[in-house]
Amino acid sequence: MKIHEADAKSLLVAQGLPVPAWEVARTPTQARAAAVRFLADPDNATRKVVIKAQVLVGGRGKAGGVKLAATADEAEDVASEILALEIKGLPVRRVLVGPAAEIVKEYYLSVVLDRATKRLMFIGSAEGGVEIEQVAVDNPDAIVYEHADPLLGLPDYAARELAFKIGFGAHWKAGAAIAKGLLRTMLAYDADLVEINPLAVISEHNADGTPVERLVCLDAKITLDDSALPRHPDLEALRDMDAEDPTDVEARRYDLTFIKLEGDIGCMVNGAGLAMTTMDLVNRAGGQPANFLDIGGGAKADRVAAAMRLILEDPNVKAILVNIFGGITRGDEVAKGLIEARAQQVRDVPMVVRIVGTNATEAAELLEAARFVTASSLDEAAAKAVAAAKGAAA
Ligand code: GDP
Ligand code: MN
Repeated sequence: MKIHEADAKSLLVAQGLPVPAWEVARTPTQARAAAVRFLADPDNATRKVVIKAQVLVGGRGKAGGVKLAATADEAEDVASEILALEIKGLPVRRVLVGPAAEIVKEYYLSVVLDRATKRLMFIGSAEGGVEIEQVAVDNPDAIVYEHADPLLGLPDYAARELAFKIGFGAHWKAGAAIAKGLLRTMLAYDADLVEINPLAVISEHNADGTPVERLVCLDAKITLDDSALPRHPDLEALRDMDAEDPTDVEARRYDLTFIKLEGDIGCMVNGAGLAMTTMDLVNRAGGQPANFLDIGGGAKADRVAAAMRLILEDPNVKAILVNIFGGITRGDEVAKGLIEARAQQVRDVPMVVRIVGTNATEAAELLEAARFVTASSLDEAAAKAVAAAKGAAA
């Protein structure tokens, strides 16, 4: 789950990282009020504010979603422009307003999960502010990689080494502390990604007016591990429905594990292992599964109906294979769900159903009365589904 920059910054602040002040505004009027406060702040060296679209995509700057304003009027105008934008298909519902920083240099620093080594890994570069993917193509040597130790994390010496390799210069101490803080953030919230781009050296003024430089997190992107979200119920509130795939939302609502695939045979199965086996057998029978779907144990009729809707939302689906082993899940419940689901569908695709186990006989009676194609073995079911899909395609 991706969270907005402003929410990510709150998590960084909670972990002791340096982030310039900000406020979130939902309307141009609110943005104006925030701008008035930041413009009047004697510590604001630029006497300008930055206004940033809060949308869950990268490259907001290039899309016109990050702008500076020097007066309250201008801030209100800029905010209303940005709030009217749609960036990469997503509406801008909120903006972040903060003191505009005077940027001296932009760095890149992130912590990611490196699946190859099964460790958390830092990615750093003195070429920040641009897409790191582009730096990796144009100038791969400008990127520094460093793994965290599973037991020790990032000890001080490793943090210093990383800071020197990235090239923070005079700001190496702050750089090392920020690296440690990002790892802390990653672990504290079970994140998949914590990315600061730019991590910027900004120029500010001391109380006596002398200039001073500071390394701060000017942008923040955090992706949380969905599987770990139950451990952080308060973070669930940060979810932005605009950015969610409607299929994922529906699947989560009914507690279904659904993963869309490329084929044309929809699969509805209970149990992850049986679902994978079913996909293998579809393959062996010469077909391609359109999805992985585990409807879970004890699935009731409404959940089966929801699963059917999800499968049929995929226009590629030409046949559906239902393979249910009734243990806790009662076969007749599944059969009722299927009958109800098919009655609600606008699109009628062939369905091959194999239900064994608890109440299988009742299930078979219901299904046959409703004229479903049934199968007793899994091989037979897979073969029938593949044939039905080919027939439908022809
Ligand atoms: P992104 O484009 O979605 O990654 O949004 P960022 O927050 O990274 O902003 C994009 C770019 O806008 C940054 O790389 C900076 O160059 C610039 N920018 C962001 N905040 C400020 C600021 O406070 N002052 C100035 N001068 N530029 C800023
Ligand atoms: Mn950025």
